[in-house]
Amino acid sequence: MYDILIVGGGPAGLTAAIYARRAGKSVLVVEGSGLGGQILSSPLVENWPGQAAVSGADWSEALSRQAADLGVETAFRQVKAAEPIEGGFMLTAGRKSFEGRALILCTGAKHRHLGLPREEELVGRGVSYCATCDGAFYAGGETAVAGGGDSALQSALYLSGICKTVYLIHRREEFRGSEILARRVRERENIVLKLSRTIQALEGEDKLTGLVLRDVTTGGTERLAVPGLFVAVGQAPENTPFAPLAELDESGYFIAGEDCRTRTPGVFVAGDCRAKSLRQLTTAAADGSVAATAACQWLDGQ
Ligand code: NAP
Repeated sequence: MYDILIVGGGPAGLTAAIYARRAGKSVLVVEGSGLGGQILSSPLVENWPGQAAVSGADWSEALSRQAADLGVETAFRQVKAAEPIEGGFMLTAGRKSFEGRALILCTGAKHRHLGLPREEELVGRGVSYCATCDGAFYAGGETAVAGGGDSALQSALYLSGICKTVYLIHRREEFRGSEILARRVRERENIVLKLSRTIQALEGEDKLTGLVLRDVTTGGTERLAVPGLFVAVGQAPENTPFAPLAELDESGYFIAGEDCRTRTPGVFVAGDCRAKSLRQLTTAAADGSVAATAACQWLDGQ
């Protein structure tokens, strides 16, 4: 039985793992896909203190290496269920199960989809949720980004460096993302703003060939012939497997205070999966360190 099981190998989970290892605990991180989490899809991170600019991929690679060098163990499995057992908790992932005395849930949040007809079948055929991963497919051509938050602004800026034209489609006139990014977007000549517009339909049979946009003020529609659409409309948690252990709010985020403790003794939550007002790398890392420290104290008190 490990001292601490951590679900999720993003910035919160890996930071928690580093803190727990440095406190002498045995740690297993169980991660469903790859280490790094959502920041892997961020082309450029410019608000990590002490580092003016770094790609999300480089940042996560350094973090993963740091955790591995400290002896953090990793299992690449999708956790389907978590339950209390004698002396701790058990995670079930397919036919495998893992046991730990304490549990830190760092499940993050997944890319939200637009919910358009045929969106799912066109994923990988023109529809993408990661500009850094798939942007190169559209180098020199035209593409579109949907959303008005930091992710959409960053994606549009990144794509404008490799594509001829980038259409940024947002359902309102004002951006939700930060002012500095919005200003850069407005100044970039090859980013064409399509504001107060929603995407009504995706066109194309085997692959995306265009979009139908709807003007939310006039109701009029227009066609945009683009082979690529990058959807960056925020994130949603996937915390239901853990609901028996930690309370969820109406949007599905874990309810816990700044101390990252849940209502279940021995269960802690950290990062984007927690109900909070600011979801950033800094707050994920902060949560990870708080949750791990609280978990270590809790274990030492047992
Ligand atoms: P977000 O801030 O929640 O923004 C989501 C955007 O998508 C909003 O503009 C929203 O429109 C729009 N949207 C949501 N649902 C939509 C729908 N069904 N149809 C059309 N538009 C829709 O999400 P995010 O940009 O992914 O950012 C999440 C968090 O990560 C934020 O805290 C952000 O600051 C942070 N982040 C930081 C960096 C960085 O470089 N440090 C990079 C990426 C993200 P409305 O504005 O109208 O609601």
